[in-house]
Amino acid sequence: MLVISLILSGAMAIAWLSLGRQSHALSWSIAYLCYGAEILAQVLEALRPSLADILGPFELLFVLAPAALVAIGARQRAALYPRYMLFVGITLAAMIIGDLPYLLPGRFGWTSATSGLFTIVMLLIAASAIMPRTRKVEPAEWAVIGAISVFVLFELLLVITDLASHGPGHREGRELFVTLYLVGLTPVFVANGIGAILLLASDVAAQLRALAANDPLTGVLNRRGFHEAALRAVANGRRQRQAIAVAIADIDHFKSINDRHGHTAGDRTLGFVCGRLTHGLRGGDLVGRIGGEEFALLLVNSSARQAAEAMERIRIDIAASGKDNDAPAPVTASFGVASVVLGGSSPEQMLAEAMDRADKALYCSKLEGRNRITLAD
Ligand code: GH3
Ligand code: MG
Ligand code: MG
Repeated sequence: MLVISLILSGAMAIAWLSLGRQSHALSWSIAYLCYGAEILAQVLEALRPSLADILGPFELLFVLAPAALVAIGARQRAALYPRYMLFVGITLAAMIIGDLPYLLPGRFGWTSATSGLFTIVMLLIAASAIMPRTRKVEPAEWAVIGAISVFVLFELLLVITDLASHGPGHREGRELFVTLYLVGLTPVFVANGIGAILLLASDVAAQLRALAANDPLTGVLNRRGFHEAALRAVANGRRQRQAIAVAIADIDHFKSINDRHGHTAGDRTLGFVCGRLTHGLRGGDLVGRIGGEEFALLLVNSSARQAAEAMERIRIDIAASGKDNDAPAPVTASFGVASVVLGGSSPEQMLAEAMDRADKALYCSKLEGRNRITLAD
């Protein structure tokens, strides 16, 4: 257990150093290090039994602190307020309660049960913080929640066997407790450690996926992200026989906004237009920035005519920018709208063909004077 604790602590420390110094990786590294210190204390006591009286009361702190650090780390990861002082307070309170039997020798010992119950509470806090609220659960999150659940059940079993085996005549119960502890703790510990490392790696992978698919200036999808999401939507639409439409929007005379108001105002105008586009769409629809001041939109479960109506509302909304405090300068946009013909060709071809027609329709909008919608079909 000492070696395993040190390996897991080292792995978390390396994860902290190499995966962007996220505070929860450091909290979890320190947690495993503390637990290693506790096992070291047990080793020393086994070698020199006289140390037990001195080390014993502090040993409990090195069991409680790692459990609290696991919960703190999970809250840091979820960007929840970590409540450090609350955790320090309840850890010290649990230490005092758990250590009382040292001051009252010969009484009923509840040190082990205290640390078990405390660990259960901390693990449940950690699991609830790891469970995402606003998106679907990632496989690594399921793995950690599963490992924590097994840990909780294991601790519960330990607490019950411990409490049931006090006093004379319970030698067998005591042996059962020790056997359970020795046999069960290592796999439970390793499973939770591997789960935590998987979680750190999976979070980084998710961040990289988001970086690769999103435009940093406006926060909407970039060309690649839009293309991938649009292909999935088209494949879905064909399977479920639901109409799909695409639109391309291009800001009118954007170069002159940059020239007259500066590049920063130009950037803010892009953000404003994106906001209006996103606001005007429904939940499953897509917006992507596919060029400097050019945006692609995909509307699910929508005919080209319905899409044109939605774009007309957005066009009016953008053109009202002269009266909008969020817009740095008055701005208008032109649109081209086309339906995706859900035929026998590949989603790639169907999307490319629809985008092509939407682009030609946009060109017509520009030729005919801008600030208007053209329907391709
Ligand atoms: P049109 O009405 O014909 O679309 O005219 P336009 O001026 O909007 O089109 P044009 O293609 O001539 O100019 C696009 C401008 O967009 C030129 C470029 O400097 C600007 N631009 C591209 N990307 C960015 C960006 O990220 N930020 C800012 N501020 N400007 C950008
Ligand atoms: Mg333009
Ligand atoms: Mg353009």
